[in-house]
Amino acid sequence: NRVYRLASRPLGEPRPENFELVEEEVPRPGAGQILVRNTWMSVDPYMRGRMDDAESYIPPFQVGGPLEGSAVGEVIASEAGEIPVGATVSHFLGWREYALLNAAEATVVDTGIARPQDYLGALGTTGLTAYLALTVIAPVREGDVVFVSAAAGAVGSIAGQLARKLGAAKVIGSAGGPDKGKKLIETFGFDTAIDHRAGSVAGQLAAAAPQGIDVYVDNVGGDHLEAAIGALRTHGRAALVGMISQYNATGPVPGPRNVYDLVTKRLSLRGVLVTDHLDRFPEYIGKAAAWLTDGTLRTEETVFEGIEQAPAAFLGVLRGANTGKMLVRLGR
Ligand code: NDP
Repeated sequence: NRVYRLASRPLGEPRPENFELVEEEVPRPGAGQILVRNTWMSVDPYMRGRMDDAESYIPPFQVGGPLEGSAVGEVIASEAGEIPVGATVSHFLGWREYALLNAAEATVVDTGIARPQDYLGALGTTGLTAYLALTVIAPVREGDVVFVSAAAGAVGSIAGQLARKLGAAKVIGSAGGPDKGKKLIETFGFDTAIDHRAGSVAGQLAAAAPQGIDVYVDNVGGDHLEAAIGALRTHGRAALVGMISQYNATGPVPGPRNVYDLVTKRLSLRGVLVTDHLDRFPEYIGKAAAWLTDGTLRTEETVFEGIEQAPAAFLGVLRGANTGKMLVRLGR
């Protein structure tokens, strides 16, 4: 059983040597436990925060200890009556080939309605985050102009399509580079693409939405958040989902210079953690699985092959090497 451990804490951008792949015995399930052969694992930007020795909403990884994250796999041994051998489950012990879990730590997923890896993307916390952002945190109303950052990524590509389903009149997305911009429009149905590498986000956003925006989904922070605050109309709303532009920062980062706009325009900016809202999963999965089936929710994924590639996939997602969900396929 090959398992990734945190070899050392990164300073700034993580490097391959921060990860160590070690060989361990394949564990055996005890009473109430299952053994899962992982087939897909997720690498997520928030994992960067867990590599630091810092207090947050989720404990840091320990140096010398295993890494964790979302994964799906097949149950190959079971001492838990409720989960049979052969079931496909999602769980939180990725970064390893075999995961030993208490039955309560695994969720059996329905591979009749979607592919296993969809439960790490559109039907996982990724999709639920986009859904919460636009229905609970910064609800979209009919006719709104919506702006999404990291729009060609996993959360962003779903957010753009949900905004449209919820009645947005115009959906603007920001992504790095012309290829991603093309993808935003041709695959994910955005109206306008902003290339954040090509020039000022504020300037491009003002050109894309001369009358301003009503809703912003922030995956990036920094220049994107400042541009969105500037563009939001009176009573505008923003869901603060993540701030990937600062995850590798080695010191405090400057805040938006236009916070007074919150007062004058009576803006609502609200953070969200998907883990507070997991009770919404059944409702969301019911809708999203139907959209995947009828083709009105389109997904892409960037796949790295083999557990050895997991660190490269993770470094890649932080740098923008992905379109849609970044995944690692294990054990083929
Ligand atoms: P993505 O698939 O969106 O991948 C991250 C993307 O961020 C990259 O592809 C890259 O795209 C973009 N990016 C990286 N650095 C910068 C930068 N400096 N400026 C602008 N864009 C940048 O990842 P996820 O969909 O998994 O996550 C998106 C965000 O949502 C993250 O901030 C994450 O932490 C957050 N999140 C929060 C959750 C919550 O519960 N609050 C749950 C899930 C995710 P590009 O090439 O376009 O620059």
